[in-house]
Amino acid sequence: MLKKTIKHLSKEAVSGKRVLVRVDFNVPQNEDLSISDDSRIRAALDTIKHLSAEGARVILVSHLGRPKGGPSDKYSLKPVAARLSELLGKNVPLLPSCIGKEVEEKVHQMKDGDVVLLENVRFHPEEEKNDPSFSKELSKLGEVFVNDAFGTAHRAHSSTMGVSQHMNINVSGLLLNKEIKALTEVLHNPERPFATIIGGAKVSTKIGVLKNLMDKCDLIIIGGAMAFTFLKAQGKTVGKSLVEDDKVDLCKELLADFKKKNVKVILPLDLVCAAEFKSGAEASLATADSIPEDKMGLDVGPATMSLIHKELQDCKSILWNGPLGAFEYKNFETGTFALVDMLVELTKKGAKTVVGGGDSVAAIEAHGANPESFTHVSTGGGASLEFIEGLELPGVACLDPLEKSAV
Ligand code: AMP
Repeated sequence: MLKKTIKHLSKEAVSGKRVLVRVDFNVPQNEDLSISDDSRIRAALDTIKHLSAEGARVILVSHLGRPKGGPSDKYSLKPVAARLSELLGKNVPLLPSCIGKEVEEKVHQMKDGDVVLLENVRFHPEEEKNDPSFSKELSKLGEVFVNDAFGTAHRAHSSTMGVSQHMNINVSGLLLNKEIKALTEVLHNPERPFATIIGGAKVSTKIGVLKNLMDKCDLIIIGGAMAFTFLKAQGKTVGKSLVEDDKVDLCKELLADFKKKNVKVILPLDLVCAAEFKSGAEASLATADSIPEDKMGLDVGPATMSLIHKELQDCKSILWNGPLGAFEYKNFETGTFALVDMLVELTKKGAKTVVGGGDSVAAIEAHGANPESFTHVSTGGGASLEFIEGLELPGVACLDPLEKSAV
């Protein structure tokens, strides 16, 4: 269901109002705590600038890392406040906490257009428990709630959904809206043929995804370690490759269901194998029915990539989740990186390409491809996976539907 965004709010609805915005400032840091990649801060700028320009008093709330048992310098949002101040060209003070009297006083002293950042919301264990009284405390800071953190939208935490229960206006930020729109379009209204490429380590984490896609796409390409459970289900011997034995029967059922529903399935034809899962392990090629007993498949081979290339040429919509091989190691990156190149080419030719999942995004980065070369690259790993599974994300479900009468 479509949700109301900050763009649907009238100026009067936000001007002079305290607007609590859940952002995802969970940035990677160097050992000295400096920020190694500020993409997540940049990604939130449109929402922050829009609200500030409308005269809102913008109160940002985020988590950073996984702090245990209370505040610590290591997980402070201090470097984020400094970087955000630079990017916005104005001072963004970091408030000492995210709840409490002192913070409430500081928030009430804000002027129209001001932006402040609350200290790491996960310094309070109540956050992840979606504790009702903590949610209520947090909600006191704002009059309007905006969720712009897609990366945590699949979590029912106080700052991602609990807080909305105490607010009259709950809307989506521009980043969250962009994510939902791109994923909704490809899943619910794809131009056909629609292909999905699913990879990664385990079939058990992608069962929901495969089941949901069965009714939606025309072609499913399965790679990564999860392909071996399918190959085993087809009666092939897979050597020492990663297999989930308790999922072999399920894979048999899935293959039968794909056939019933006329979904074409492509499994690896050939594999780059090695005796060990490690960097520098000596690699050799084997067909999918001749993987040596003492070796494991760690990447798809050239015949598989040619087939994938051929099959994807006419596809108008392509969704990719999960690497085709152990791309973190040089010897086993070729298949995944070739797929990245293929998708860039197909996007240029007019296909809609949507990438979801942390590892696929990491592969795009590792290969040095520009995320702008795809139709959409999702910022949320777990959240995009749950969305593709067809699950409702709590951080989205709690927002006002677009139909609700104008504010
Ligand atoms: P996931 O988190 O399920 O998307 O899995 C991603 C991980 O799967 C990456 O770290 C890859 O190294 C790993 N992976 C992909 N292909 C293989 C393979 N053939 N054997 C072992 N691990 C693999």
